[in-house]
Amino acid sequence: MDDNNYKKLLDNAFNKLPKLSTEISDFKIPVVDSIIQGSKTTIRNLATIADKARRDQNDIAKYLSKEFGVPVNIEDQRLVLNSKFQPTELNKKIEKFFNTYVICKECHKPDSHLENAGRGMLTFVCEACGARYGIKSY
Ligand SMILES: [Zn+2]
Repeated sequence: MDDNNYKKLLDNAFNKLPKLSTEISDFKIPVVDSIIQGSKTTIRNLATIADKARRDQNDIAKYLSKEFGVPVNIEDQRLVLNSKFQPTELNKKIEKFFNTYVICKECHKPDSHLENAGRGMLTFVCEACGARYGIKSY
């Protein structure tokens, strides 16, 4: 194979790489859509929040349960919290979740995943810039 062919091959391979999902400019932390019913609060757009974060719905549930110190339930893609919470409180926590566990502190992009590092720690892995750093588990 000559150099030209090799370069073409590389170009093709590069073009086939999956595109990273979002650019910082159009990434917005989702706004919670919630409703208080009796003594419970339901987050109606749990699926959207989880999709945006590229995290499991159970991860969001676990995080909010710990942050608020209340039991939670996932019912039909909605998250039911066992207490009353105003939208501002919920949005604050969701923003904190994204800023800590989703958005890279180095390049500020949301293309990331978490690895379990044991002993209550996670390794944040940025797929955009390659940064890796330890953060406390939730
Ligand atoms: Zn990064």
